Amino acid sequence: MSNDILQNPLTWHQAAWLNTIKQFRSGQMPHAYLLSAEADTGKRLYAIMLAQFLLCCSPGPQAACGSCPMCLLNKAGSNPDLLIVEPEDGSKIIKVEQIRDLKKFLETSSHSFGKRVIILDSAENLGVSSANALLKGLEEPPADVMFILLTDRPKAVLATITSRCQVISLPRPEREQSLAWLRIATNEAVTASNLSLLLDFAQGRPLAGKAMYESGTLEQQQEMGDALLQLLESRLHPCNLASRYAKTQTGDMLRLLLYWLNVLCKYQLTGAEEHLKSDTMRRISATLLNPAYDRDAHTRALFSLYNEVVVAQTQLGSTSNPNAQLMLEDLLMQLNRLVRMNSHNTSGLR
Ligand SMILES: [Zn+2]
Repeated sequence: MSNDILQNPLTWHQAAWLNTIKQFRSGQMPHAYLLSAEADTGKRLYAIMLAQFLLCCSPGPQAACGSCPMCLLNKAGSNPDLLIVEPEDGSKIIKVEQIRDLKKFLETSSHSFGKRVIILDSAENLGVSSANALLKGLEEPPADVMFILLTDRPKAVLATITSRCQVISLPRPEREQSLAWLRIATNEAVTASNLSLLLDFAQGRPLAGKAMYESGTLEQQQEMGDALLQLLESRLHPCNLASRYAKTQTGDMLRLLLYWLNVLCKYQLTGAEEHLKSDTMRRISATLLNPAYDRDAHTRALFSLYNEVVVAQTQLGSTSNPNAQLMLEDLLMQLNRLVRMNSHNTSGLR
């Protein structure tokens, strides 16, 4: 996470931000917020911007100044009056030691004689003893401390914690807002159709789209897409394709298959060309969806394969340790059969 001093909330957070500022101006801020929003839609940025604003020595009307000593400390990521608690080292749970840090933070006083802020990311992932320690802080909060708790799953947060916070439910961005944000986040280096594809892969969540762009997911997905097209055009054998990806990228391949089958089903049901967002997708659709074929039967076959991929994905995520090579081979052969089913049927119609 960048330590830039944030000057503007995300466009889809604008209304909520104005409300928060209004509370601040009228002296009606609670001592604890719970920011609830879907993952990867920017609630963490909201929390950071709020922390920067509250800690700033001379904030502007709606954002931190960016140049006072506290803002400089925030920029350097070394403000002792800001504590960020989040799951570490790939763990999903906030550990008891981290809550000990939080307790210590509560027991000391501000280094600047101003506000102090605790951001606690993933409030739904507190163990029992961590939750108890946090509750104590929430029940008897030091006057200078603001708690900002974050959650993707508000229903999973303990009611005793939620009831001590003011909940802000941040909205999911509209597609156009996400695309506009993602365009800037990718330095306008991605074409409009690829941007749209990226957002689809990220299930409409712009910050996930940015992370995918930075990790080269778009190129990787395109390469996989080309390989699948070769399979459908009988230029690549299912076993070869499976062995190419089975070692490290089975999950990515399953995700791409799901995405494809989902798009193809939608296209089958609606006939709307707009679902086919890339050249690869249009070629796949042309290869796979023969107009001479019984549309309903074909859609059923696509749905059935979609379900198989979902099952495979579940198995992959479980502890059963499935054979990835065999799993991919099986699904790719089924995909291949759809093409053969097509040509067989077409020839039968002639
Ligand atoms: Zn400042």
